[in-house]
Amino acid sequence: MTLWKQNWLRKEAPKSKDAPDRLRELKKEIAVIRKQGEPPFKDPHTFSQYLCDLCSTPHPVSELRQCVLCGRWGCGDCWKDEFYTCKSCAGLIRIHQMKGT
Ligand SMILES: [Zn+2]
Ligand SMILES: [Zn+2]
Repeated sequence: MTLWKQNWLRKEAPKSKDAPDRLRELKKEIAVIRKQGEPPFKDPHTFSQYLCDLCSTPHPVSELRQCVLCGRWGCGDCWKDEFYTCKSCAGLIRIHQMKGT
């Protein structure tokens, strides 16, 4: 009974060749602030909330998402769903797209 596993592996195979390269180029320009999986800072005033790494305002942890590029935790205001990164990295992605590389 390994059929499900084979199907899963097939799905994981990369389809586009240029996307990983573009990501690598981009990553060279982005300073990694946190490691992936590293938790956000706890707000010292409330203890039940966490700080957005971009605007430094406290939010419940459910409202913060970690940027896959720089590792910063962003609140709704500092997040770009379009790229699934923080606002700051989304800006860099846009510049890259404009360059067409
Ligand atoms: Zn924020
Ligand atoms: Zn980022």
